[in-house]
Amino acid sequence: MAAEARIIDGKAAAAALRAEIASEVSGIKAARGLVPGLHVVLVGEDPASRVYVASKEKQAVEVGMNSVAHRLPPETSEAELLAKVAQLNADDSVDGILVQLPLPAHIDADRIIDAIDPAKDVDGFHLSNVGKLAAGRAALVPCTPLGSMILLRQTLGSLAGLEAVVIGRSAIVGKPMAQLLLQADCTVTLAHSRTRDLPAVVRRADIVIAAVGRPRMVKGDWIKPGATVIDVGINRLPDGKLAGDVDFAEAVKVAGAITPVPGGVGPMTIACLLKNTLTAFHARRG
Ligand code: NDP
Repeated sequence: MAAEARIIDGKAAAAALRAEIASEVSGIKAARGLVPGLHVVLVGEDPASRVYVASKEKQAVEVGMNSVAHRLPPETSEAELLAKVAQLNADDSVDGILVQLPLPAHIDADRIIDAIDPAKDVDGFHLSNVGKLAAGRAALVPCTPLGSMILLRQTLGSLAGLEAVVIGRSAIVGKPMAQLLLQADCTVTLAHSRTRDLPAVVRRADIVIAAVGRPRMVKGDWIKPGATVIDVGINRLPDGKLAGDVDFAEAVKVAGAITPVPGGVGPMTIACLLKNTLTAFHARRG
C-alpha cells in the first residue's frame, strides 16, 4: 500500500511568515521611525466576525504593526460607514483597511468595498485589484488564495504545466485562486455546482483546490494518486467539530500532500492579511 500523504502544516508556515513580517516591521521602525497600520472595521455583533476581528487585531499587534479595530454598533448606517472609510482613506498612517464581511443587510457591501482606497484594500476585493489580478498586473490579492499559493509553492516548487482543478468560483476564493494558478503556468479548470461529472474532472488534477463549503464532499477516489490537495473549506459539523470540503481520512491515503482542517489554509489567511498590509505600506510609502 502507498504511504500516506505528507500533511502540509499551515500553522507552521503561517508562524514562519509572521516571523518574517515581524522582522521586516521592526526594520522599518528602526530605519524610518514608521509603523505599518492595519485598521479593521466591524459593524454589529456577529459572533464569528467578532472572533475573526479579534484574531486579526491580535496578530497585527504581535508582528509590531499599529493595529486598530473600529467596532461600530449594528444600527450604523451606510452613510456612517462610508464616512468611516473616507476618514481611514485620508489618514496617511493607515496602510490597510479591512471591512469585515458580512455586513448587516441594510448596508450594501459592494458600495463599501468600492469606497475603500484600492491602495489600502488589503482584502483585495476592490474592483481595481480584481481587474489588476485578472490582467496579470501587481495587485493586492485576496488573502486565502494568496496563502494557498504560498503553501503550494512550498510543497511543489514550480507549478508550471501542472493540471489544477479549483472547485468553487466565489469572488473571494475560487476565481482569484484560478487566476493565481494561471499566472503560475498551471492548466486551470474552474469547477462549480453545474460542472458535469465533477469526480472525473478532479481525477485529472495534479493540484486540487476545494473551496465549496460542503463538508467532506471530495472523496478519496476522486483524487489522482500523488496529487496535492488544498482544502479551503471550513465547515462546522453538528458535533461542533470542524471539517474541510475534502474527506481527509480517505484523501490522505491517495494524495501526495494535503492540508488538514483545521491547521491548513486557515492560519495562512490572517498571515497573508499582514503580508498584504506590508505590501500596501511599501507601495504607498516607499
Ligand atoms: P461560496 O458559497 O461563496 O462559494 C461556493 C462555491 O462552491 C460556489 O462557486 C458553488 O458553485 C460551489 N459549489 C457548491 N456546491 C457545489 C457542488 N455540489 N459541486 C461543485 N461546486 C459546488 O463559498 P466561499 O468561496 O466563500 O467559501 C468556500 C469554503 O471556504 C467555505 O467552507 C468557507 O467557510 C471556506 N473559506 C475558508 C477561508 C479560510 O480562511 N480558510 C476563507 C474563506 C472561505 P456555484 O457558483 O455554481 O453556486
